[in-house]
Amino acid sequence: MYYLLPDFRFVKPETLREAFRELETEGAAPIAGGTDLVIDMKVGRRKPDKLVYIAHLPELNGIRDAGDSIVIGAVTKLQSIVDSELLRKHAPVLPEAVNEMASWQIRNIATIGGNLGNASPAADTAPPLYVLNAKVVIKGLGTERVMPVREFFVGPKKNALRKGELIQAIIVPKVAGEGVGMSYVKIGRRQAFTLSIVSVATLVKVEGNEIVDARVALNAVAPTPVRAPHVEEALKGSKATAEVVMKAAEEVLKDISPISDVRASKEYRRLLSVALTRESLLTSLRRAGVKVEV
Ligand SMILES: Cc1cc2nc3c(=O)[nH]c(=O)nc-3n(C[C@H](O)[C@H](O)[C@H](O)COP(=O)(O)OP(=O)(O)OC[C@H]3O[C@@H](n4cnc5c(N)ncnc54)[C@H](O)[C@@H]3O)c2cc1C
Repeated sequence: MYYLLPDFRFVKPETLREAFRELETEGAAPIAGGTDLVIDMKVGRRKPDKLVYIAHLPELNGIRDAGDSIVIGAVTKLQSIVDSELLRKHAPVLPEAVNEMASWQIRNIATIGGNLGNASPAADTAPPLYVLNAKVVIKGLGTERVMPVREFFVGPKKNALRKGELIQAIIVPKVAGEGVGMSYVKIGRRQAFTLSIVSVATLVKVEGNEIVDARVALNAVAPTPVRAPHVEEALKGSKATAEVVMKAAEEVLKDISPISDVRASKEYRRLLSVALTRESLLTSLRRAGVKVEV
């Protein structure tokens, strides 16, 4: 079956300011790597009149050290995130998750801003960014607002952007250190080159043998990626043991509302959510330096 692109105008602005002016027009949409948007246009889900190319704009690109945090420009390619020494050192769960996305070829054209902008419930950058408590910097013509990534996702394929706004960057706090462990576990229909059936990111902080902080996030189990507050509460203040993790992971069923779709049934997603939450938490605890026996 052949899919044809509908007619549209393509503009490549010379400056960010010019991009904002172009985006003010009715029917305009930003395009970065195009790995989501072009497919949506080919299958008729989206029909923008004008595509405003943004992936070449230097103000939106690059990964930089900002002291307590790392700032990732929205058009930074996914593969640059995998390769970033800065992120691997201070927020390793993000490169770990991105390394599981798509393929090397796609990761060299697709961007982190596009993954968030597409607002899929299965977006793979969401769970790690949720547990890192990352924020999105949103820019418009003469406006700027910053919000937690968790608030940016408002529904399936719906984000918090207003007309004419762009994601400029993502702010990732530096959280790695003594007693901190984090991990990402993804199950798709194949080993690679595929979207999540369920993915889980976790981050734990341990002092002595006590879990003093626990963050858990999942994708593909609700209309948006979610944090799992019931699991987190069951862990905080508890001993860092396998028994505690086994019990706490069951709580995830209170935090999710999966549906059946082309990739999996809701029953399978529920089973996977418990199993992957358990697996990711055990890995995070081990990475935090705790010896947990199962
Ligand atoms: C074969 C294949 C495999 C894939 N595998 C995965 C996977 O494993 N995990 C996963 O999560 N995704 C996967 N994807 C989806 C896709 O590659 C990612 O979501 C990617 O990060 C999208 O980035 P992009 O730059 O191509 O976005 P685009 O297609 O350019 O844009 C996507 C949406 O975001 C908007 N947008 C883009 N940039 C901005 C910005 N700076 N500000 C505001 N809005 C913006 C666009 O208008 C559009 O609505 C896959 C896609 C393909 C084709």
